[in-house]
Amino acid sequence: MNSNPPSSDFSASSGEPLGRPRVLVLGSGPAGLSAALYAARADLKPRVLVGMQLGGQVSLTHVVENYPGFPEGVGGVELVELFQKQAERFGASLEMDTATAVDLSQRPFRVKTYAGEYLADTLIIATGATPRHLEVPGESELTGLGVSYCGTCDGWFFKDRDVVVVGGGDSALEEGLFLTRYASSVTIVHRRDALRASTILQRRARENEKISFIWNTVVTEIVGQDKVEAVRLKDVVSGEERLHPTDGVFIFIGHTPNTEIFQGQLEMDEGGYIVSDNFMQTSTPGVFVAGEATDPHFRQVIVSAGMGAAAAIQATHYLEENA
Ligand code: NAP
Repeated sequence: MNSNPPSSDFSASSGEPLGRPRVLVLGSGPAGLSAALYAARADLKPRVLVGMQLGGQVSLTHVVENYPGFPEGVGGVELVELFQKQAERFGASLEMDTATAVDLSQRPFRVKTYAGEYLADTLIIATGATPRHLEVPGESELTGLGVSYCGTCDGWFFKDRDVVVVGGGDSALEEGLFLTRYASSVTIVHRRDALRASTILQRRARENEKISFIWNTVVTEIVGQDKVEAVRLKDVVSGEERLHPTDGVFIFIGHTPNTEIFQGQLEMDEGGYIVSDNFMQTSTPGVFVAGEATDPHFRQVIVSAGMGAAAAIQATHYLEENA
């Protein structure tokens, strides 16, 4: 058993626990809801702590085009609703609550939430990841005032406006393409002269008349009083700086896993991703992990869903052997 300290003080017990599920799933994205489906079908009556956003990041995605079974694509919100419905049909229950601290030093594991505390015989961590910030002046002050991390959520506000997209990966190009529905121009600012994104997205972006690129350039400041007015750009080759007027800045430069509450209790890599074996088992027996909390590489709905299913199958075996 893990002997590291819990992530906050559990000594002051908050009275009767909210429940003692055989399987407690933390998170309701594709990984969490797939884990819930498989645990429910094993008759384990899993409880799912939904977290801050039902469905996680995919619910902020306009359309998912690469989840098998949907040849025409499927809306992110619609896909989450289908996942939820299927898990609930077999007995999973979703709680509008979020884990705030855990004690994994012994079983049952203790999970503190905003509503109280759960005791759990097994845990499946599916807490996902959060978009990374640029950490430049003006970014936090102007978030919601022109700075955004979600084109699907905020694109509509930029009808006939000029926007900047930061990043050169799949997210930047996919979201940049989505933003061309509304914006009059989308300028993609990338720190290198070659994109990381897949060939198909690169082709679509280059063929889109509203999209242009600024290469070898970083954003060093976001400028504006009550709304975004410009970005300060720095050419990383020449060192030259200039102001580029814009109405919005969409930032897609990768993600950080939502694993802080497990720090010191589970083995993690240097990026904060929870380390697991091929069976989704973490460094603490009985605690499993699935999806982007453990996966910095694939970040696909289908991969997260597959990991969730695998984690639930392993949790089922674990409970058979460790009643
Ligand atoms: P990513 O692939 O890690 O790309 C992040 C981009 O941001 C890179 O171009 C990187 O530049 C740039 N960047 C990182 N830190 C920066 C900083 N501080 N300042 C400026 N630029 C910075 O992240 P992602 O695009 O979110 O994609 C993550 C994973 O999800 C990938 O595996 C991707 O394939 C997958 N994904 C797939 C789809 C799809 O299949 N439709 C959609 C979205 C995401 P460098 O290139 O120089 O490193």
